Amino acid sequence: MLTSIAGRSVIVTGGSRGIGRGVARVFAAKGAQVLVAGRDLAQAEATAASIRAEGGRASGFAADVGNPDDVERMAAAALERHGGIDILCANAGVFPAARMMDMTLAQWNEVLSTNLAGAFLSVQACAPALARSGRGRIVLTSSITGPITGYPGWTHYAASKAGQLGFMRTAALELTPLGITINAVLPGNVRTEGLDELGEEYLASMTASIPQRRLGSVEDIAYAALFFASDEAAYITGQTLVIDGGQVLPESLTALQEMDR
Ligand code: NAP
Repeated sequence: MLTSIAGRSVIVTGGSRGIGRGVARVFAAKGAQVLVAGRDLAQAEATAASIRAEGGRASGFAADVGNPDDVERMAAAALERHGGIDILCANAGVFPAARMMDMTLAQWNEVLSTNLAGAFLSVQACAPALARSGRGRIVLTSSITGPITGYPGWTHYAASKAGQLGFMRTAALELTPLGITINAVLPGNVRTEGLDELGEEYLASMTASIPQRRLGSVEDIAYAALFFASDEAAYITGQTLVIDGGQVLPESLTALQEMDR
């Protein structure tokens, strides 16, 4: 049983749907006050309203994490609404597919701006308040794609997700004197609106390649993030946790097939 996070102030970027909404719901269910951030205010507000309907404390905020002014306003809103920031879940991300040989610099920059610069800007904007918390926690949503695996069509995405980990390892050193930990969850394939947009064929082939034979749930990721945010994880910083149902383990297709023999 982890020490309660009741009353703690949490920002979840990309909290309006998918994994971020799952994180927001789980943290709110544990008594935290959650600022749900996304570019679409109506969607962020709708998610916050659904959390309040379940008895949680949450509000929506419109911010593009690739925009420094937006991210500063997001941190200021959490300070104003909650009186501080204890936990930042830097989760916002996009994964549009484009083959490397056809990719434009604009496509590359869009993904790097949101996924990598967005994480940096969110951390930078929230760090002063997280330091004042005395038990500041940052949880990045990276991926298995990039840090561990590859998939054609996602060179920009893979670079952004591996880049988050390089950023994290040095940021951990700079944030330690401020009493802040920073860690990353690395989801495999998690059933979200964003994943659904990749189509049934993709979902079926991914499910077949996962030893547990199911896609992850947003709660699978949220509880890993909750652990990194807990008092009990105070001595862990700059580390990663893969949550993938065993997806990265098989050496080959045969290894997967051998499981059923
Ligand atoms: P999703 O369903 O598409 O949701 C993405 C969320 O991020 C939405 O709330 C979206 O809201 C927000 N967002 C996108 N761009 C943003 C920006 N520039 N500024 C602020 N918010 C932004 O995606 P998901 O599947 O939950 O993925 C969430 C995170 O998990 C991403 O970082 C993704 O790379 C990572 N991940 C997902 C999987 C998976 O299988 N689903 C696997 C590994 C890693 P708005 O559109 O309103 O801004």
